[in-house]
Amino acid sequence: MSVCEDHGLAQSKSNAKQGTRPAPGSSMLTKKQIDGLRRRLLKKGSEINEALTWLLAGEKVDVEKLLGGGKPGETPEEKLRRFLNLIDDRIQAIARGQFGLCEECRGEIPFNELDEVPWQKACRHCALAEARSP
Ligand SMILES: [Zn+2]
Repeated sequence: MSVCEDHGLAQSKSNAKQGTRPAPGSSMLTKKQIDGLRRRLLKKGSEINEALTWLLAGEKVDVEKLLGGGKPGETPEEKLRRFLNLIDDRIQAIARGQFGLCEECRGEIPFNELDEVPWQKACRHCALAEARSP
């Protein structure tokens, strides 16, 4: 934990359901937070692109080191492509102003979760539910 932890974030916890949203369907993230996450998404995207290029050229790529949390049976190439899609999708979500909202329940994903994994598109609750389903 380091970089820039914005203050005032703690106030937007659970009982901020009514009144405080900037606009319906948009997240509580500040522009600065989104910009920072966007930069990280772009950086990760180019790292993955590079790794994919090496992989397709027959080089050995440590995909586990680049991207944690794979699905069982997934090849390194599939994994890289899946994350590229995810990142691409998130960058489009930023453009639509939908970044930081869970794709399942439309709830807000807290900044500290996005800070850990900027390309996640479901809140922890929905992600766990999905992981449990077969
Ligand atoms: Zn959700």
